[in-house]
Amino acid sequence: MEQNYSALLEQSLDATRLTLLRLVADEATQRGLPLYIVGGSVRDLVLGRRLNDFDLTVEGDAIKLARSLASKHGGGATAHTKFGTAKWFLPKNLTPFDVAQGMPDTGAYATLDLISARSETYKHPAALPTVKFGNIIDDLRRRDFTINALAIRLDGSHFGELRDDLNGLEDVQKGIVRVLYPRSFIDDPTRMYRAVRYEGRYGFKIAEDTLALIPEARAFIEKLSPQRIRHELDLILEEPNAISMLKRLDELDLLTPIHPALSNFSQSNLATLKSNDPALQNRNSRWLLWLMHLTDQEIEFLNERLHFTAGLLKILRSASLLSANLSAVVGLKPSQVVELLEGYSLKALEVVSSAVQDEEIKNILNKYLSEWWHVKPKTTGHDLKKLSIPPGPKYNEILRRLRAAWLDGEVKTEEEEKTLLGSMLK
Ligand code: ATP
Repeated sequence: MEQNYSALLEQSLDATRLTLLRLVADEATQRGLPLYIVGGSVRDLVLGRRLNDFDLTVEGDAIKLARSLASKHGGGATAHTKFGTAKWFLPKNLTPFDVAQGMPDTGAYATLDLISARSETYKHPAALPTVKFGNIIDDLRRRDFTINALAIRLDGSHFGELRDDLNGLEDVQKGIVRVLYPRSFIDDPTRMYRAVRYEGRYGFKIAEDTLALIPEARAFIEKLSPQRIRHELDLILEEPNAISMLKRLDELDLLTPIHPALSNFSQSNLATLKSNDPALQNRNSRWLLWLMHLTDQEIEFLNERLHFTAGLLKILRSASLLSANLSAVVGLKPSQVVELLEGYSLKALEVVSSAVQDEEIKNILNKYLSEWWHVKPKTTGHDLKKLSIPPGPKYNEILRRLRAAWLDGEVKTEEEEKTLLGSMLK
């Protein structure tokens, strides 16, 4: 049955986004260009989700369309001529309220992407695609899964017409992740990771015939660049259901082809991913929970394959070292714990302490994080200077000694600290 999606579209968008969509649609109509909302936006719409983001594809020149929108309604436009894509930098009045709120006040702009319909072919497995302009069907065929190959037309009287040339609607309704053609995973092995992500996010199932394509494609995973494979893992770690997705990737043997160490995860660390602790609800914390029990050598090998960002690599190294040396904190005085833990990154300490099983060690780490590392002596370098002590490494030594005295309860008041300082200077 032919169904019109205009009502659903109107319900799923807030007023600003709907106005924006209609402005683009009117402009496309005037230019005689078929315009579509495509891909994941349509999938989410059919699933009854609110749309905060949408992908627009035009059969024709997206760059001209973006430029005339900017000249009529304000903002600016930039173009990527080779790919026929454009960005419309939205004027303030067309920026959705929630987007504007989240933006730093540095004159940053919200943007709307406009894409010219295109076809893509792959010169060799795992290569980036060769792009040619085409029509909407070409554009739907280049996509990863049937559930992402739906489009709704927006121009003129076509507003709300569904394009479902590849039977995506039925798969969305039945909850099936299915590739569009048998070589799909070989052309782009990242799609295997995407399939697991959609499966886990929506509670869908990967179709049997799609699963059957994994064994042959597995060998091409090693051809993916570090950036592409890491990006897919990043996306998975951003999902609330990341833990079940990692387990599913392992079950499908999609982790060892990236690196065997990825599959060697600790169930108890991963279980911490389920915690509601806000400090753990971000990508980097999840990378740590996944990998912190690896040796520093394994982390280095993984880094060669995945090219972690410098920030992530630093905290990963720190977490791995810390996990290996945790038992050393037991039985020490607070000042000795501080000395031992000071060199580790706070992020690593925070994540490791939330995952550690041993209650005694957990308590010590928590004490360090909540109290001990904040402790400082009242005396400062400035005060030492006033006492005519010549500046040098001695300063550090004195201040450390005073801090240790506070930490271990040797001094409890400023007076007692002064007395201790006096006796040290003698
Ligand atoms: P998400 O909600 O995860 O962002 P999305 O569907 O919006 O889902 P994007 O990664 O933003 O996903 O990609 C937009 C669309 O581009 C997808 O819906 C899909 O049709 C297409 N696409 C993305 N990556 C690929 C790929 N590797 N191969 C083929 N098509 C892809």
